[in-house]
Amino acid sequence: MPAPGQWLAVAVLSLSGMAAFGLAPDTVLDTVPTLTIERALPRPALPDADAADTTYWREERVRRGDTIGSLLARAGVDDPEAMQFLRTDPAARPLYRLNPGRPVHVATDADGELVGLRFHTRAGEMLAIERHDGAFRAESAPVAEDVRTVLRSGEIRSSLFGAADAAGIPDAVTVALAEVFAGDIDFYHDVQRGDRFSVVYEMRYVDGEPVGSGRILAAEFENRGVTLRVFLWRDADGEEGYFTEAGRSARGAFLRSPVEFSRITSGFTRARFHPILQKWRAHKGVDYAAPTGTPVRATADGVVTFAGRQGGYGNVIFVRNQRTYSTVYGHLSRFAPQVKAGARVRQGETIGYVGMTGWATGPHLHYEFRIADVARNPLTVALPTAPTIGPDRVDEFKAAILPLADSLVLARSLPGAALAATD
Ligand SMILES: [Zn+2]
Repeated sequence: MPAPGQWLAVAVLSLSGMAAFGLAPDTVLDTVPTLTIERALPRPALPDADAADTTYWREERVRRGDTIGSLLARAGVDDPEAMQFLRTDPAARPLYRLNPGRPVHVATDADGELVGLRFHTRAGEMLAIERHDGAFRAESAPVAEDVRTVLRSGEIRSSLFGAADAAGIPDAVTVALAEVFAGDIDFYHDVQRGDRFSVVYEMRYVDGEPVGSGRILAAEFENRGVTLRVFLWRDADGEEGYFTEAGRSARGAFLRSPVEFSRITSGFTRARFHPILQKWRAHKGVDYAAPTGTPVRATADGVVTFAGRQGGYGNVIFVRNQRTYSTVYGHLSRFAPQVKAGARVRQGETIGYVGMTGWATGPHLHYEFRIADVARNPLTVALPTAPTIGPDRVDEFKAAILPLADSLVLARSLPGAALAATD
């Protein structure tokens, strides 16, 4: 028979164990399949009931190229006074950032005068505009959002953005997808036709309408026949990051690409610079074609050893990274202000901007990766490994990602995959 003191110890231990589990990985996994965020804040008042009988509410969707003026004209509003208010009142500013497809609710009277307007802003607020005794009033208040988990998958035919569009994935998620694999895949040079991906991500909804995307919870990318999977995980310090099934950080000690992948850069790369890539041996570097002014980021933490003009490199930055590694960024149009010899830079920090200084026939970044001062091909070199989840927590991690791994399997079998194949 255990003494009463021992029972107490057992009870305390199991409670603290539950608390730790409840606060760490589950806060991420709670969002599968649905997490509802409710905020007990009042919604803006609706128009007076007695005014309602002469008021016509209608929903008008934002079209590409719409201004608030063209949208209201389509909704039957003919009201210079209202337009004057919308143009000048600071509270109406969200109406000048309209995303196609989003609904705007508009109320008019029989003469086409604006009586009220409702719009869910990108900041997650409800903007309500009312006319009272001839004067307009605008107010914004937070609204209850619910966060849903969305599964999508696609197959690349021409570009990652093309496949993502076909699968109905928002741009913000596509960019984030490239970021979570940034330690393993260079989205400029590595991605090819036939690559497949699946992604589990959050979408924020208000009144059943999507108002924006949230975090990626899990993602899978099959690149040249090799499948990578990453999962969102919150470490003991509360920091969120992406980890492989084995518990290795997906970020890596080095990013594969010094230029962030975006819709602009994705369309800019190929034709012109591929011939140069074939000449890697003579060239000693990899080129990233991108518009002048595109930010260039440090691929790893390090110390700037040189930032200035040097022969064919033009404006160039040399960074000494961990141990024997160093990286070189050439042809820059300009440097970030903090980048000088001796300055510390962090992985992902913007250190300069794409240009065509030195021996360059068009705007591009020339990037070199050196080990013990010998240039190596950054597209193929084995990069130093990244930190892993400690042995004390890796079992917890592996158990926590199981439902997300199932979601990835499910995403792969969705009609979205077939849809993407038409890209
Ligand atoms: Zn080059």
